[in-house]
Amino acid sequence: MNDKTSHVLILGQGLAGTCLGLRLAMAGKKFSILSSSSHDAASVKAAGLMNPVTGRRMALTWKYDIIWPMALDFYPAALDFLKTENKDIFTIRTIRKALHSTEEMNFLEAKSAWAGYKDIIRIERKNKKEEDIFENLSGWAICNSGARLQVPEFLEAARKYFSEQGNLMDEEFLPENLSKNPNEGGWTWNGQAFDAVISCLGLGCPWISPELWAVKGQLFALEGLPLNGPDILKTEHFLIRLQDGRVLAGSTYEREFENNEPDQKGFELITGEIIPELRRSLKISESWSGIRPTTHDRRPIIRRLEEGLFAINGMGSKGVSIAPFAAAEIMKLLFPGE
Ligand SMILES: Cc1cc2nc3c(=O)[nH]c(=O)nc-3n(C[C@H](O)[C@H](O)[C@H](O)COP(=O)(O)OP(=O)(O)OC[C@H]3O[C@@H](n4cnc5c(N)ncnc54)[C@H](O)[C@@H]3O)c2cc1C
Repeated sequence: MNDKTSHVLILGQGLAGTCLGLRLAMAGKKFSILSSSSHDAASVKAAGLMNPVTGRRMALTWKYDIIWPMALDFYPAALDFLKTENKDIFTIRTIRKALHSTEEMNFLEAKSAWAGYKDIIRIERKNKKEEDIFENLSGWAICNSGARLQVPEFLEAARKYFSEQGNLMDEEFLPENLSKNPNEGGWTWNGQAFDAVISCLGLGCPWISPELWAVKGQLFALEGLPLNGPDILKTEHFLIRLQDGRVLAGSTYEREFENNEPDQKGFELITGEIIPELRRSLKISESWSGIRPTTHDRRPIIRRLEEGLFAINGMGSKGVSIAPFAAAEIMKLLFPGE
């Protein structure tokens, strides 16, 4: 598939399908996207955080050296390409992780001197005058290379572009309507021929669903939390100040759940480390939840399934940072040598 006439079909317009569609559009390739808005997309529920160091021990995220610069380049370039006026859709953010013990502080202080971590984290001991939001705060691990993408706004801007360019079909994908072209290669969808098909259907992907693990996440928009400034605060969960003054708090990571609704248990888990006086005065102004497509080894699936059929999936809680890389990898498979 090297020539400009090759026609690619993307299934699904969540983060994976959108980043791939934008890479194809920016490279001047011919493509269509089939996506039905009647399906729940994990992407529209995402908080949009890009955090390079995760977990208690602040381990560097998978393929950091490749995926981080790629995502930091891709989103501003894509937003320029889409001519979006809202400059807040993608912003670089400092992430401050609350530290609660001397042991944690000493470990991370030592780690902040390790090769590969030196430019990413630094430790700040708690200033006595600092107002407390969290219980037993002894200091902060500060990371300057975080970022946030307002995912619904990004998807909407891309959707508008795809729609205006005639790339988008708002239709249900049914596997029985996709057939292989026996002679000339490629695939046919409802009578239309395509040279390659890329499934970005999230949990709705019929080919790899047995490999996926559904993990629920809950988010709350809160009033009454005195969080000033653009820094994102992190404990087990995160707090992000929104432009309207509310604070976005999230997300749970639930492997077992009965429904896709936010609940009191999720709220308590997320706000559990906030000091009790503050927690009592919090008001939930909005809440929502979604289901992430995740894999057992927490690595994304970026794969050729068979000749001319590919998939991006299983991005778990890191869809924002992984999707630009996944799209670039699929581009290499589609157009080798370019
Ligand atoms: C509460 C919550 C918070 C999160 N926060 C973050 C965060 O802060 N940072 C981060 O990086 N990630 C976060 N994530 C994870 C992120 O949302 C996912 O990794 C990512 O959205 C997965 O994108 P996707 O394109 O693979 O799947 P999806 O977004 O699910 O997209 C699938 C697409 O396929 C379409 N579709 C499915 N089936 C069909 C069909 N049969 N016919 C037609 N169309 C179909 C859907 O409509 C959708 O457009 C969060 C997730 C949740 C739930």
